[in-house]
Amino acid sequence: MHIMKAQNPRGIRNLSFQAYARSTNKKKPGMLLLTALTLLLLGISLAALFFQNSRKAPAGTACVYQDGKLLCEIDLSAVKEPYTFVVTSRDGGHNTIRVERGAIGIVDADCPDKLCQKMGMLKTSAYPVSCLPHKLLIKISAAGGSGLDAVAQ
Ligand SMILES: [Zn+2]
Repeated sequence: MHIMKAQNPRGIRNLSFQAYARSTNKKKPGMLLLTALTLLLLGISLAALFFQNSRKAPAGTACVYQDGKLLCEIDLSAVKEPYTFVVTSRDGGHNTIRVERGAIGIVDADCPDKLCQKMGMLKTSAYPVSCLPHKLLIKISAAGGSGLDAVAQ
């Protein structure tokens, strides 16, 4: 019975078709996996976006540190009119800090990388703005909690 089937040309064609079908079936899970992976990545990034938005704690107090020492504390919820002030570093560099209601950021600096300027206005306690060349650090601690609590949220 087996031998007869193997000798049947139609049987051989069927076999090759099966092999073809198997090879296309092999591709399909790959495509599915790719699609699933893409959807998963999309989902993760959307979730991250949502998570980031949801963890936006109400702006509390902004702390400005220079050389690791607290330079000043600003209650961002009490700011009525936006204003700027200049912090001069020990080596003569400067950072212009802008304070708005609920936001703080470095708007001008003479550091070489200007990364602090590019960071823009800080509105959450999620991350700090820093100017490494000038050893300047600005971070917001969420209202009614320490910085550590805000990170743990
Ligand atoms: Zn800088």
